[in-house]
Amino acid sequence: MKLLDLLRKDNFTSINWIWHGGECLSVDKKWFDDVCFSMQKYAIKYNIDLIFSAQSNGTLLDDEWRELFNKYNIPLGVSYDWSAQSNRGYELTDFKDFYFIISVITNKNIKNLIQDFKTAETKKTSISYNFVFPTKEYNNSEELLDINTTITEYKKYFDFFINYKNSVIEERSVITLAAAALNKDIGLCNLHNCLLSDRICINSDGTLWRCDDTNVKEMRICHINDINNISEFFNHKQSNKLKLMKQEQINNYCLNCDLLPVCGQGCMHTSLTESQGIKPYSFQCEFTKEMFPYIYEKLGNLTPKEMVNLNPYLKCSLIKQLYLPAYLKEELKNYYGNDNI
Ligand code: SF4
Ligand code: SF4
Repeated sequence: MKLLDLLRKDNFTSINWIWHGGECLSVDKKWFDDVCFSMQKYAIKYNIDLIFSAQSNGTLLDDEWRELFNKYNIPLGVSYDWSAQSNRGYELTDFKDFYFIISVITNKNIKNLIQDFKTAETKKTSISYNFVFPTKEYNNSEELLDINTTITEYKKYFDFFINYKNSVIEERSVITLAAAALNKDIGLCNLHNCLLSDRICINSDGTLWRCDDTNVKEMRICHINDINNISEFFNHKQSNKLKLMKQEQINNYCLNCDLLPVCGQGCMHTSLTESQGIKPYSFQCEFTKEMFPYIYEKLGNLTPKEMVNLNPYLKCSLIKQLYLPAYLKEELKNYYGNDNI
């Protein structure tokens, strides 16, 4: 509540609040119910647009949690390993009406992207492929992704997804990567410039972080009791130190890179893990350099007629998020008729 109060006093009128973790379902249900209730009441009182969502590993999901998430209209993302099948003690269909699946990609399932997508589709459950990038903190070596395999397999899957005209589910990695590669959206965590964004992560002990991964101590900025307003968080000396590190990396490694405007040096958390923040995270840099031109070549110059054959979720996203130049939007309106845009 204190964070909400500070945000209101600094005139934040729109807040996306993500219950994350660790594991957000490990808290007491009554506590969760009371907090959501109080926050919503506060938001209504001060006319704040407060939107909840949540991310969980799903092990503690049950009907009571289902009721709570429905009560507060909270979409829940659940991590799920398709290839290993469910080890969570529940079936996807039990909860399909209010969650999507976060499918964690490691070396074990990188070759199953198309197959796993089709499995998700049989359950009509949208998914998001999240890559576990091989940094030092991730020490399960059997699961570490190798860059060449990742690029080869992801390209195959990408081609499949963008041309899949009859898709009945969404898959977010392609949609967010396409948005980032076409330089129209900052939705992809690993690429958007989080150090210049309005993102704040609060831990259960009241500490405030720049990133939800609290294993990287440099991302801890301060305690909520240390600040009197939100700008003290954004302008804190530790926030500024991270921004300076980012700028130094850009100066030393990225200035001649054509992708700098869309990549922005990438993710500081993984860079800190790999090289104490000295250089951009190499796996992500290689992936970006290979995939972004590939995506641009496939999607950057489509005519309206060619867009008709795209995956419907990608097509809607391209149109809705206004990626297109004005002349092409006009052409699309003529092509589809205004009602269909
Ligand atoms: S792709 Fe690599 S070199 Fe280019 S901006 Fe991103 S991190 Fe820097
Ligand atoms: S540091 Fe990286 S993982 Fe953390 S919020 Fe920023 S982009 Fe995302």
